Amino acid sequence: MTQPADAAARRAIAPVICYPNDTLPKPDLALYRRALDGVQVTSVVVAAPREACAFRVPAGSFFRIVSVEGPQVGDLNLWNANDLSERFYSGKTRALHGTHLTTGERMWSNFPFLRPMATIVEDTLDWYGFDVYGGSVHDVIGTRCDPYTGNLLAGTQYHHCCHSNLTRALADATGLPLAQAEAQVHDVLNVFMCTGFTRDTGQYFMKASPVRPGDHLTFFAEIDLLGALSACPGGDCGSAHSSDAARCHPLRVEILTPQQRALDGWSSPPVNAYDRSHGVTAG
Ligand SMILES: [Zn+2]
Repeated sequence: MTQPADAAARRAIAPVICYPNDTLPKPDLALYRRALDGVQVTSVVVAAPREACAFRVPAGSFFRIVSVEGPQVGDLNLWNANDLSERFYSGKTRALHGTHLTTGERMWSNFPFLRPMATIVEDTLDWYGFDVYGGSVHDVIGTRCDPYTGNLLAGTQYHHCCHSNLTRALADATGLPLAQAEAQVHDVLNVFMCTGFTRDTGQYFMKASPVRPGDHLTFFAEIDLLGALSACPGGDCGSAHSSDAARCHPLRVEILTPQQRALDGWSSPPVNAYDRSHGVTAG
């Protein structure tokens, strides 16, 4: 392999952050935390192992994903409950916040909406940081395990990947035919999953999740949400996924309703203000 004479100098150029986020609208975490102090659990749903559950969260309420029984990874999809065409945009969330999310960071919606759908207000795994392999938890770099990739790589027909679990859960929650529900399923937030990219080959890796029963991730709903959470067939994702080989556990989702007036001063964020002309003038 030949290299240009100034190869070392070109590699030595320092990176610049693509999206400096000091101008991102900041969530009022102090207000959210005060509201969280007075919440009542008003609904509980459970994602059974290798299945998904759906849930609705009104704007201004919270939802909490809780590890129960044993280490388990969850794949989370979010939609605007009133318009399924607005949904979580994993790629832009990654560009804005980084590869893994934690307290104070947000799940952003797709174009043309691009607004915060949910804000993380509690993360009991925030102590983990990045390990020596470059791994961390709650990533927005994976997509979701799915039967198509399994079929591509191993010729399998497996029906309990997160993609299929989310598809069935959305179809059940909305009455949509399976094929239409499938088209709404999107790249996920990998809740509790520990992932990164290998330093030598840049390949996506997973390792056993540090999550333990009682750990949880709590979100504030910025808009009316329809959520779906799959208890991944990978279990703690320490070995295999896309099969029944791994030991799996359920995940609990709690809907938390704050006391009246606890969110005085807060309002649901509007959709993005870009004029959508794309440079084409009318007339
Ligand atoms: Zn999965």
